[in-house]
Amino acid sequence: DPRLQAISQAIRVVPHFPKQGIMFQDITTLLLDHSAFKDVVDIFVDRYRDMDISVVAGVEARGFIFGSSIALGIGAKFVPLCKPGKLPGEVISEKYVLEYGTDCLEMHVGAVQHNERVIIIDDLVATGGTLSAAIILLERADAEVVECACVIGLSDLKVRSKLNGKPLYILVEPR
Ligand code: IMP
Repeated sequence: DPRLQAISQAIRVVPHFPKQGIMFQDITTLLLDHSAFKDVVDIFVDRYRDMDISVVAGVEARGFIFGSSIALGIGAKFVPLCKPGKLPGEVISEKYVLEYGTDCLEMHVGAVQHNERVIIIDDLVATGGTLSAAIILLERADAEVVECACVIGLSDLKVRSKLNGKPLYILVEPR
């Protein structure tokens, strides 16, 4: 797809952020490029519009940006998966392990109905820990996770095998 090179180029790489040795993939520059941002959303919308998806779940915070646009494009509802303490209603929570310490994702009870078909969106997948927690959260609500999708990811099999057997769709590799 000829659009992918421009998408990749629009992502800024910031060395040593947020700490020494990390090459941070910054999608805020992609958002400044209307054509590249629109191409990202169009590619996902074209992929998912005829797959009977009724829920797009986005991971806080950058998964909200892409996920809500995709939800509007395919006519699905948008469900935010949030860091602890951000959602005011009753929630279910799923903890997951990070390189240093643990984190947690929360979802409102009742946001998803039994057997709804869901895609999960984030900006980037690294170890797959975040997406795995998101999958578990949605499956605990009896939703059917059809696929996870990210703008950036390594086409690495280790990640895929961690995603509870769910397919992973990625547009570009980190630069
Ligand atoms: P994982 O759980 O190891 O797959 O890490 C993915 C999560 O960390 C996602 O929610 C990303 O938003 C975030 N993340 C990790 N590295 C980067 C980066 O370089 N740029 C933007 N987000 C990142």
